[in-house]
Amino acid sequence: MKQLLLVEDSVMFGRLTKARLEAEFDRPVYWTKSYAETVKILDLADNNFSMALLDLNLPDAPNGEVIDQVVGRGITSFVFTSNMSNSLRDQVWSKKVADYILKDDPNSLDYIITAMKRLQKNEDSLILLVDDSRLYRTNLAELLYVQKFRVVAARNGPEALEILQKHPEIKLVITDYNMPQMDGCLLCQMIRAEFTQEDLAIIGLSSEEDKGIGARFIKSGANDFITKDSFLVEEFYCRVNQCVENIDLIRQIKESAVRDFLTGLYNRRYFFNGGEMLFASSIRDQIDLVCAMVDIDLFKRVNDTYGHDVGDLVIQQVAALLQNRIRATDIVARFGGEEFCILAVNMGISEAKVVFDDIRRMIANTPILYDNQQKSLHVSVSIGVCVERTESLEQMIKVADDFLYKAKKSGRNCIRVSF
Ligand code: GH3
Ligand code: MG
Ligand code: MG
Repeated sequence: MKQLLLVEDSVMFGRLTKARLEAEFDRPVYWTKSYAETVKILDLADNNFSMALLDLNLPDAPNGEVIDQVVGRGITSFVFTSNMSNSLRDQVWSKKVADYILKDDPNSLDYIITAMKRLQKNEDSLILLVDDSRLYRTNLAELLYVQKFRVVAARNGPEALEILQKHPEIKLVITDYNMPQMDGCLLCQMIRAEFTQEDLAIIGLSSEEDKGIGARFIKSGANDFITKDSFLVEEFYCRVNQCVENIDLIRQIKESAVRDFLTGLYNRRYFFNGGEMLFASSIRDQIDLVCAMVDIDLFKRVNDTYGHDVGDLVIQQVAALLQNRIRATDIVARFGGEEFCILAVNMGISEAKVVFDDIRRMIANTPILYDNQQKSLHVSVSIGVCVERTESLEQMIKVADDFLYKAKKSGRNCIRVSF
């Protein structure tokens, strides 16, 4: 595991910061107290640090010389300082640090930890840069790489639209205004015809002279606007991060609205929405559709014997077994307490019998671990399967439920199939 590097000559502040970083990031922090000591460890343990927190003033390097050493080795760096003038700020940003923090602010440690965690998340965020100038594309990409973002670039509007089709995971588009073929505002409108402000964010860029472009960008669907020639790196980062964080939040909220809290499986509500779509496409494409209802046997007894918390663990582990066993195109949802519903496409009658009996056997044979994995217990499930598409999804669920009841009546730990 890569370590964090802390360079700080003040013993009290260093001790406090080291303890906090270790607690928050759950990884070792290597602490040096001078420029010389830092260069020595970097020479010895090159490539061993993922991020660094650097004091700007060290006794043997009073002007931030340590930044060049650390950033120069490709280590993402944050800077601590006790004062920050405008000229010092420009100097610090020109050294390609990820952010700086004022030491005397009582919230500085909280701020730095939030910023460091955000950077770890940025590795999952893809940004699309659209500019006809290669120089601007390169400069902006370099700034974004400092913040650990992933970047794709397009030279014009049509190319950008093509890339968006291929990469729906893109969270932010940063686009120039003046471009051949299609200007930035028209590109915004074209993007918004397909992607809402909930799907992705857009920041417009333009040069100083175009006074009205900012408003035009926003009216065309951009979230924000930056003036190209006079922008401050710090402001650029704030705007980019704010846009990406908003998209992350929206995606998180949307995701939690369709997921069951205990198991992470889809919830009942999603099952009906996603299920209706699968049902419709299975009619359109004339493909087989199977619906299965899975219920843990005598689960009340598990709760009564081992307690409700172990019961929860059982539900989680059965859910994980189901999730791992079905294909990405199928849907598995937690339907109620210890009951799950599966909708599988492209599965014939004989295949369904084999697959669901396999699932049943796998669950019966897999020990469920509890008490910190020290102990284990076994549960079984009964499964009712509706193997033919009937007139509606509700009807298929009802048939699966009827056959589940038959499986229970037949002694449990078995499957019953509607054929
Ligand atoms: P059968 O084999 O007929 O399905 O018997 P059963 O005991 O599994 O069925 P029953 O419906 O009688 O009991 C289900 C129990 O599941 C009752 C309820 O308290 C428990 N339960 C429902 N949701 C949860 C949950 O989220 N966590 C835990 N631990 N228990 C739950
Ligand atoms: Mg049950
Ligand atoms: Mg039940």
